[in-house]
Amino acid sequence: MSHSSASRIQEYIGDPVSDSPPVTRENLEEIFQDIQGDLRFDHELNGCLNCGICTATCPAAHYYDFSPREIVQLLWTENLEGIYDAMQEKIWSCAQCYTCAARCPFGNSPGGLVMLMRETAIKHGMESAKSVLRPFSRVMLKLISTGNQLSPDMINPEGFADWGPNISKVDAPLEILRKAIPMPTLHTTKTAWEVNLKTSVELYTIWEETGVLDSLETIDENLFDVILDIMDEKRDDYEDWKDEQDDD
Ligand code: SF4
Ligand code: SF4
Repeated sequence: MSHSSASRIQEYIGDPVSDSPPVTRENLEEIFQDIQGDLRFDHELNGCLNCGICTATCPAAHYYDFSPREIVQLLWTENLEGIYDAMQEKIWSCAQCYTCAARCPFGNSPGGLVMLMRETAIKHGMESAKSVLRPFSRVMLKLISTGNQLSPDMINPEGFADWGPNISKVDAPLEILRKAIPMPTLHTTKTAWEVNLKTSVELYTIWEETGVLDSLETIDENLFDVILDIMDEKRDDYEDWKDEQDDD
């Protein structure tokens, strides 16, 4: 393939004033097919009056350069370039509150359509998805290794530097406070609560079968490798535990 600018313009479709990375027409069609082919698509898009009621009631539209009306119009008119462009940044502004779905006279769910676009962005390993999801890697690691997302010992300035200055105000004797909670499963600061090994292993199977781990591999291969090691270790622990039960 030639890399001259003339052939680039012929081969790639894109808005010349957009920051979106160049992409082939074939790729744009594939991305749209992935969104449109989802079972939920026809439930969430029934037509669009372009009335703007969704945008008028959308909290994200109030604060960001984002409009659910625009998103729905792009999908309704099958504007492939615009859809791709919106997936680079705009779709990540939605708060998933679904006020739009409650108000749309057509029964559309712009928030639900945004979710389909996000899932497709992850499936295609788009940079926007990678950068939005990067901060969640510590949560994912914790979830896989302990069974829950956040533990009390993570609430400190090192763990959550991005929470800003307020995090330094968290100063409590966590060990003592947790011991005061009546449920023994909460007497821990390393996990939110103690999760049974069998439950963790069952969760791994759900993540494998539902494609969660495939998505993770697309978005962050290093994290995926670490997580696979943890899962193998936990599965071995579970098998050992079962063997011990049989021996008793
Ligand atoms: S999605 Fe619904 S509320 Fe939003 S512009 Fe279209 S018809 Fe109006
Ligand atoms: S679900 Fe998203 S698009 Fe809909 S109102 Fe809430 S923030 Fe706006």
